[in-house]
Amino acid sequence: MKRGAPPPVPAGRKLYPATPPPTRGAISWNMNTSCNYRCSYCTQRFIDDRGRWAADLPRFMAAFAALPGAWEIKLSGGEPFVHPGFLEAVAGLAKLDFVVSVVTNLSASQAKLADFMQAVGPQLGVLSCSLHLEYVDIDDRPDQRDTLSAFIDRCSFARDHAPAGASVCVTCVATRANLAALPRLRERFAAAGLTFKIQPEKQDREVIAYTPGERQALVQLGGHNLTGSIAPDYAGQPCWAGARYFVVDDRGEAYRCYPARRYRTERLGNLLDGSFTLAPLPAPCRYRYCNCTVPIARGMMPRAAARETTHTTRGPT
Ligand code: SF4
Ligand code: SF4
Repeated sequence: MKRGAPPPVPAGRKLYPATPPPTRGAISWNMNTSCNYRCSYCTQRFIDDRGRWAADLPRFMAAFAALPGAWEIKLSGGEPFVHPGFLEAVAGLAKLDFVVSVVTNLSASQAKLADFMQAVGPQLGVLSCSLHLEYVDIDDRPDQRDTLSAFIDRCSFARDHAPAGASVCVTCVATRANLAALPRLRERFAAAGLTFKIQPEKQDREVIAYTPGERQALVQLGGHNLTGSIAPDYAGQPCWAGARYFVVDDRGEAYRCYPARRYRTERLGNLLDGSFTLAPLPAPCRYRYCNCTVPIARGMMPRAAARETTHTTRGPT
């Protein structure tokens, strides 16, 4: 958890008008803390209990169904495929007409991926496949438990079985150990027809202090999830998060966005106990580092603002 209050918004910052109301809202549902991996850079590695999962799926389904308007729900964890009710949740949300997106380490077998495709059907939005090189051997050595070629095969299987309009992409955390390999990985995935995105490494919830040369390399790779920035800063800008985007965990605790949850500010209540409320309108962002690429990608804040204010080193605390 981030301690203390967010740093103030700098005075005199140019402010932009709010973007148009999103036709579809988006929810990041961290449905479990459990994961079959233990990546050294995992931002959740300090969570006390990494064995939790959303247990009362019918209550979650009822709460999601009661939301006003159209929504996309992006399932993540931990690793959502290890949630014991993952396929049940996917099928339930698809039946309720939600667009269903998933962030996964793609360690699931092809057979389980096929089950997922059947459960989600035409409702799939984005399948975001995280490549973790501490578990996937980039050199394809046959004695390793998973290899890059096998990972690409699973990505391709998912892409080939995804419904029209859905997308399958690959992400990789730009640790210093990974940096040199990232351009080669991008080419390898491009050759397979897959979009490759990098994510800056974070320590203590802030982007690590990359050198200028490393920052340049990350920007050349598209910045965080192809946003063009390493650490976007929308502080002071109007943002629809809290009204048409929120994050919710396995216990139903809901916050405006990830920075809000880190600072324990802008809590929206609990989705399961009747205390949850959405804001009616966009409101100024209070945070100096936005790592919420879901609302960024869906145009929920004026992106032109980040070009003038983006931090490219460790963000302020
Ligand atoms: S796969 Fe993701 S959730 Fe699991 S340990 Fe690695 S970074 Fe953390
Ligand atoms: S941190 Fe990002 S998602 Fe959160 S309010 Fe600011 S701009 Fe919106």
